Amino acid sequence: MPSDKSTLDPPVFRFSNGWILKNHELQREDLWVRDGKILNPEKLFFDEKKPADIRLDCRGCIIAPGFIDVLPQICVKNGGPHGAGILGVHLEGPFISKEKRGAHPEDYLRTFETGAFQDLLATYGCLDGVRIVTLAPEMKRSSEVIQELTKRGICVSLGHSVANLSQAEEAVHHGATFITHLFNAMLPFHHRDPGIVGLLTSDQIPPGRQVFYGMISDGIHTNPAALRIAHRAHPKGLVLVTDAITAMGLAPGRHTLGQQVVEMDGLNSYIAGTTTLSGSIATMDTCVRHFRKATDFLLLNDSLHVQATYIAGQQVWKKDGFVI
Ligand SMILES: [Zn+2]
Repeated sequence: MPSDKSTLDPPVFRFSNGWILKNHELQREDLWVRDGKILNPEKLFFDEKKPADIRLDCRGCIIAPGFIDVLPQICVKNGGPHGAGILGVHLEGPFISKEKRGAHPEDYLRTFETGAFQDLLATYGCLDGVRIVTLAPEMKRSSEVIQELTKRGICVSLGHSVANLSQAEEAVHHGATFITHLFNAMLPFHHRDPGIVGLLTSDQIPPGRQVFYGMISDGIHTNPAALRIAHRAHPKGLVLVTDAITAMGLAPGRHTLGQQVVEMDGLNSYIAGTTTLSGSIATMDTCVRHFRKATDFLLLNDSLHVQATYIAGQQVWKKDGFVI
């Protein structure tokens, strides 16, 4: 049966008697909206010859874009049928190195001034729901900040940094326990000073402590050989991360990352017009698949008995009856 399209279309709202900021000045203009999207009134008029379904009087108010909290207050909550749980927030920057800022805009970078931890609080506003803070440990007064964050149960992660190994070890002594996307945005491994990467085999880690490290195993951020080096040196510390940006899952082309434009092509995402990687667009299952191909690993059951062994991604042994 033919349907009457106009009755099925979402209603068109016309917000009139308001002011809109256009070309840097407030202009008296109506705003047309359908299904949550702003419409071009001319197109609506000429193409659809459609008047508004609902007219709203703004009584001379300014119609402005919704305010966005740069640091949203995210409530930690359990997952369920309604959606995924929220474990907390990872704040990466702005207390990071200018040289290794990656895709972070330089203008927003900060240093710890005399207030140290107070500077951090003033920047973030509030630490509710924060679980991880990434900072560059070579920054002055970072030790004090690391201690304060650790005291509050917040994991300090080292990254976007030019720290040498002894600076990284000092940070671990003060409480840092994580490395943000190992190899990316830090000094490359050097045999005389391996920098943050050296934490994987450092003999200066306090007894009973473990340093974990995130790795972006998307086949772009880290070469499979580097993945293997890290994994063989310190398998228990490895945490696969996606470092995914909001463009993940969207079609190739131009998207935004904060206030920056990024270009997405296949699994690559760059700050537009540069060769600077801007996070990844790989999903976690892609990273796990890539890691599995690139590394040697074991599959253990709940009681930590080996069920299967993989070398360079190939299964070379499995326990009788183990199915994979
Ligand atoms: Zn980063």
